[in-house]
Amino acid sequence: MTTRSNSLAQADLATALHPYTDARAHEQRGPLIIERGEGVRVFDSEGRDYIEAMSGLWSVALGFSEERLVKAATAQMEKLPYYHSFTHKAHEPSIRLGEKLVEMAPEGLTRVFFTNSGSEANDTVIKMVWFMNNALGRPKKKKFLARTKGYHGITIASGSLTGLPNNHRDFDLPAIPVVHLTCPHHYRFGHEGESEQDFAKRLIAEAEETILREDPDTIAAFIGEPLMGAGGVMPPPEGYWDGIAALCKKYDILLVADEVINGFGRLGTTFGCQKYGFTPDILVTSKQLTSSYLPLAAILFSEKVYDAIADNTHTIGTFGHGYTATGHPVATAVGLENLAIIEERDLVGNAARMGERLQEGLAILKDHPLVGEVRGEGLIAGVELVADKAKKTPFDPIGKVGTRAFEIGHEEGLIIRNAGDTLALCPPLIVTEEDVDAILARLTRIIDRTWEWVQ
Ligand code: PLP
Repeated sequence: MTTRSNSLAQADLATALHPYTDARAHEQRGPLIIERGEGVRVFDSEGRDYIEAMSGLWSVALGFSEERLVKAATAQMEKLPYYHSFTHKAHEPSIRLGEKLVEMAPEGLTRVFFTNSGSEANDTVIKMVWFMNNALGRPKKKKFLARTKGYHGITIASGSLTGLPNNHRDFDLPAIPVVHLTCPHHYRFGHEGESEQDFAKRLIAEAEETILREDPDTIAAFIGEPLMGAGGVMPPPEGYWDGIAALCKKYDILLVADEVINGFGRLGTTFGCQKYGFTPDILVTSKQLTSSYLPLAAILFSEKVYDAIADNTHTIGTFGHGYTATGHPVATAVGLENLAIIEERDLVGNAARMGERLQEGLAILKDHPLVGEVRGEGLIAGVELVADKAKKTPFDPIGKVGTRAFEIGHEEGLIIRNAGDTLALCPPLIVTEEDVDAILARLTRIIDRTWEWVQ
């Protein structure tokens, strides 16, 4: 990326601390200022256009110029720009969106709680589960099981569930009781010669041993992304979720599906848990819920969880949890319109169809000398770059080559993201065949140029 020196860039440099950015490197390079969006493309302050193959942060399902979302927000702003839902208050958009979510959700998820972000949603899940188990007279049942490389957010508690070193290091996390199990990624964590099914069996055995070692009476919940996203786009091995769901049932552990990326069509099914055939007790959504036009997250949960919490609120006299913007009317109005558009345009079906084209196109890259593994499902994919293809040897240091590819991506007009040396793709659900083909062509050039740079 070239250094930019217009006055906006100077103002950014003078004031901002950027998330997920090396601040000192940023001072040298300056920001890439994105000015406007149109469909799957965004345009920077120098007029260059990019295909946004990451949907921003895995989230802009409808692309960057959906007028109907703007109109829905404007209409709600004019009618009732803000109200809350504390102390028995309610308003139409959040009621209607809750109703819609329950209608769309897998069987048994009949209750909703809104937050502003995925991190807050997972924090809320932790608090709900603790509140519930205290109410049920089992105060020891508080630990969470999560996975290394899982991503569940960055607040003190949700960041503790996240299993990525950069989210813990120097933040003094984890700060809540959590046990991280092996990441279910066969290519990296499968043993030599071990089949996917045997790998899944081994991980399920590991989970059971962990539960028994820790004592099942201390384990409250298992949380996982059906397909892992930010940690490097990793679909589960065959049989994994069946086994995990059975264990949760056996030991009375709540199963939490973090569908902040998977939810609303990303994998070509409405929810990721439907793709892998399991039903969670709690399901967390955000991102594509509003296409990120406004911040919003929704937790869906079962009547069993609701009842235990509701009883306790009656004993205490309140549920002492909630945000000023819980169920914000403008955000929930946008969410409702967004879900209506996803249904009307069959964007879940489009994700399945375009996803097939994307995955088939990417499969050709498997033969590239720089590519160790190509993986994904629907409209989410990861291409892992390796130093030695035969031995699966990662680059040292991890991430340097991936970052170079990410940078070349800007020069080639394609915004991707690197999780270490895995290049992630997660284009808007509205992509067309032409868009998918353009993404594939640009990605191929990026990988070829990265290969030349590595030599
Ligand atoms: N959970 C998952 C699976 C995510 O991918 C993310 C964000 O990428 C989060 C939670 C956190 O969401 P937020 O960034 O809105 O706090």
